[in-house]
Amino acid sequence: MVLATGNKGKLAELQMLLGDRWSLVTQSSLGIEGAAETGKTFLENALLKARHASAASGLPAIADDSGLEVDALGGAPGVYSARYAGSPSDDAANNRKLLEALSDVPTEQRGARFVCVIVYVQSAASAVPPVIAEGRWEGRIAREAKGERGFGYDPLFVDEELGRHSAELTPDEKNARSHRGQAVRALCARLAEV
Ligand code: IMP
Repeated sequence: MVLATGNKGKLAELQMLLGDRWSLVTQSSLGIEGAAETGKTFLENALLKARHASAASGLPAIADDSGLEVDALGGAPGVYSARYAGSPSDDAANNRKLLEALSDVPTEQRGARFVCVIVYVQSAASAVPPVIAEGRWEGRIAREAKGERGFGYDPLFVDEELGRHSAELTPDEKNARSHRGQAVRALCARLAEV
């Protein structure tokens, strides 16, 4: 099965959860370039990435798409999270832009969530429906960055139950709660039935 990413970290994490029934390879290790993310929803993007990887490799494929939805911004940056402050993707600029956009927004209206949709397709044109799983991690956008770990919006995203920023969590702590962790576990449970 091919994973529509070049990210070795994602490969190792997913392979561990899938066990030895499936053997994963990244699309980049097969010389396959990533598809353009032109979809308007996380699901559209995940599906087009998976179908592209499957068509190019002739193998079943898995792809994910994720981002941050902020209530006070009507769900933005959403599918544009990586490019919120422009291309190429710049985490520091994205975080600055987000803080500025929310500068007048009071604490109780700073609700947000990370969303991850992950899909499995058996083949690019298969009549077999894709397997789809989603994870959502609810939180709030802080007024200041905190923590050194993670990536993207992790320094600004607060898990209110824990009272900690995502960038303060260890990888295991983040994985146990995160949108991606939830989605990957749900997909693995569904794939055990395929
Ligand atoms: P993609 O799913 O790899 O396209 O990621 C989309 C973008 O959403 C990333 O570049 C980050 O800006 C943001 N994002 C997704 N997941 C996370 C996360 O776990 N922490 C922080 N930012 C994230």
